[in-house]
Amino acid sequence: MSLARHLLGQTGIEVSRLAFGTLTLGPVQTNLSPDRGGELLAYAFERGINFVDTAELYGTYAHIRAALRKVTKPPIIASKCYAYDRETARKSFDQARRELDLDVIDLFLLHEQETTLTLEGHKAAFAFFLEQKAKGLIRGVGISTHAIEPVRALTQARLGQTHELWHGLDSTLYREADVIHPLLNLRGLGLLDGTAEDMVQATREAAAAGLGLYGMKMLGGGHFLKDFDAAVAFAFEQTHVAAYAVGMQSEAEIDMNCALFAGEPVETQALEATRARRRHLTIADWCTGCGNCVSRCASQALAINAQTGQAIVDETKCVLCGYCAYGCRDFCIKVI
Ligand code: SF4
Ligand code: SF4
Repeated sequence: MSLARHLLGQTGIEVSRLAFGTLTLGPVQTNLSPDRGGELLAYAFERGINFVDTAELYGTYAHIRAALRKVTKPPIIASKCYAYDRETARKSFDQARRELDLDVIDLFLLHEQETTLTLEGHKAAFAFFLEQKAKGLIRGVGISTHAIEPVRALTQARLGQTHELWHGLDSTLYREADVIHPLLNLRGLGLLDGTAEDMVQATREAAAAGLGLYGMKMLGGGHFLKDFDAAVAFAFEQTHVAAYAVGMQSEAEIDMNCALFAGEPVETQALEATRARRRHLTIADWCTGCGNCVSRCASQALAINAQTGQAIVDETKCVLCGYCAYGCRDFCIKVI
């Protein structure tokens, strides 16, 4: 059996059900060298993965470029950025093309959209990406999100139903969105504004409206390792989702995930090793308590301890997205 491929909405892009999420390769996690990251990615492509998820924030363009030099058939690459106007959008897009050494970026998304108002605030950047799509330099545009509202807002924009969530704002541009990368897991861990059932419903409606979906955080940042079978079963039941991005750090993990997604038997030892592996967010003792990380965490998992004056994490809320780490100028935060 091999990895199934699915069309991503109406983009005409076919992606493997298992996507390689590259956050794990970058500086706040394993911090692999571009060469080693490139080796792992190239290995994944040999195993049938043809879809790579990255972001400007992740710092993994060099790893992907190293992998692209090793393969004859390039994978589908999705990137995302926090651009909010034309200038920041141009900068992010140019950086992606330059550092990936590509003319065309398959999918370019607005990163971490939280509400309809966030979408409104990033409209000028989205317009720039639509222009690049019209020139053939991007194949599909969209958003990534840990929230239900933007999924519903894009669906409503696409269907011209703008009375409810758009509060009279002009949703015309967002009618052109192609793809959503939502957080979708058992129990909805990390969701900002609702339950897993709400997100299932919202993403089903988005798919029915023609949007392409690829999910993230199927294991809840490691929280569901104890409920591994149920979490994986939940993800596989989401047949309206073309793919799931999964972070991988070794050939053994790639083998295991490829087998899992292909419906092949998984070696017990590999499964047990994955179940036993629980990553954590660590905060170094040189933390100055500046609070920058606290405001970066939409899951409200961080706070400043009144006694020590340093950041502390509530592990029950943390989904190990790593976003806070990028907000720390002193490099105190790592996911290990
Ligand atoms: S951003 Fe860094 S230094 Fe500031 S509170 Fe967070 S961990 Fe500490
Ligand atoms: S504490 Fe950091 S890694 Fe955890 S959910 Fe918040 S931003 Fe993400």
